[in-house]
Amino acid sequence: MIAEIIAVGTELLLGDVQDTNSTWLSRRLAMLGIAVHHRQTLGDNPTRLKDAVETARSRADIVILCGGLGPTPDDLTKECACEVFGAELTLHEESLLRMRTYFEKSGRVMTDNNKKQAMLPVGATVFQNDHGTAPGCALEKDGKHLLLLPGPPRELKPMFDDAAVPYLLPLTDGVLCSRTVRVFGLGESAAAAAVAPLLDSENPTVAPYAKTGEMYFRVTAHAATEAEAALLCAPMTEELCRILGDAVYGVDVASLEEAVVKGLTAANKTVATAESCTGGLVSERLTSVSGASAVFSCGVTAYSGDVKHARLGVPQAVIDRTGTVSADTACAMARGVRRLADADYGVAVTGAAGPSPCEGKPVGTVFVALSSSEGEFVRPLNLTHRRDRDYIRTVAASHALDMVRVALGGGVPGQAYYGE
Ligand code: AMP
Ligand code: MG
Repeated sequence: MIAEIIAVGTELLLGDVQDTNSTWLSRRLAMLGIAVHHRQTLGDNPTRLKDAVETARSRADIVILCGGLGPTPDDLTKECACEVFGAELTLHEESLLRMRTYFEKSGRVMTDNNKKQAMLPVGATVFQNDHGTAPGCALEKDGKHLLLLPGPPRELKPMFDDAAVPYLLPLTDGVLCSRTVRVFGLGESAAAAAVAPLLDSENPTVAPYAKTGEMYFRVTAHAATEAEAALLCAPMTEELCRILGDAVYGVDVASLEEAVVKGLTAANKTVATAESCTGGLVSERLTSVSGASAVFSCGVTAYSGDVKHARLGVPQAVIDRTGTVSADTACAMARGVRRLADADYGVAVTGAAGPSPCEGKPVGTVFVALSSSEGEFVRPLNLTHRRDRDYIRTVAASHALDMVRVALGGGVPGQAYYGE
């Protein structure tokens, strides 16, 4: 199989934007065993665009265009490529709905010209865009394949890995193997910088992805057989784990909660949760994992100061002196629920999730604590840069789970707490 890449955008020809997409796509295609014989860079000009697609179609099996899927009249990639391939455009309702939701979520108004982006070739395989508005697509006509991808790299890369690779795979001789290395406590840029040389690898490829408050790397290899692909993935996965050390909470696990439940099960230990601002999110996440009943004893959602005192035994004097959003209260909550449930670990969260400050503490001030036979530990979190209630609650809950994970691994889960 031979592919040709056409990067579209006048800004690329002017040198205002560097065409990084073509380089990146070439690497991905090499990994799939698809040869690239030609690459073209074009401005947003319909005559030259159609010419370029025609030429590419005559000498390659797969024509990949990126850029020019935007809503403005100068974005013509789709219209021109489809004309050459003899494919008609029709409104794709599902994509229109996705775009509407995307705009609503980001608090913007969708204008009429955005509808142009939901016009897709009849019979195409649609690639949904999880990081922007323009969907991509692929279609086959007379044995030739056309792939249309958005220009912004942060939209193109995940779309290629998630949707285009599964489309292209059956056209190649081999199979893929993927491993997921999940990371907590290091941001996407810091983690990517730590493993920078590995990100240039061609087979396997290593791709960083961000998730709320955490990130992961996907290692993907292409080979003739599953066993060979797995063999290619193994040393890269090990190297990532070696460099990232304790920040890696699991390989091929679905989530932090799954890693914690697995870890507790293996160690034959139990956990109990005491939650204020996360309102039960930690216990919900733990119990969403099958097998949680063997390791999760109880969860107390103690929202009011009175319940923190009466049910969890947080001394009234502590609440009076430090407030309910404090390291002392968090540790007393963790200690209290551990005792209440007779669990190996007690974990607690208290904080100001917003929208308004709590007891004069700014939104995003959170204390997460863990109590165990090894001692008491606290993580004071400063999430004040994100005044987003959902984000603060999710990240706070993740830290609670991570404290258990680190403690299980024999590490120090936070600052040691020696009492008031
Ligand atoms: P477009 O899909 O044409 O609306 O492109 C949107 C933006 O994506 C452009 O302004 C560029 O910043 C970026 N972009 C487009 N094509 C490329 C490319 N080949 N490489 C890197 N960035 C690109
Ligand atoms: Mg453009």
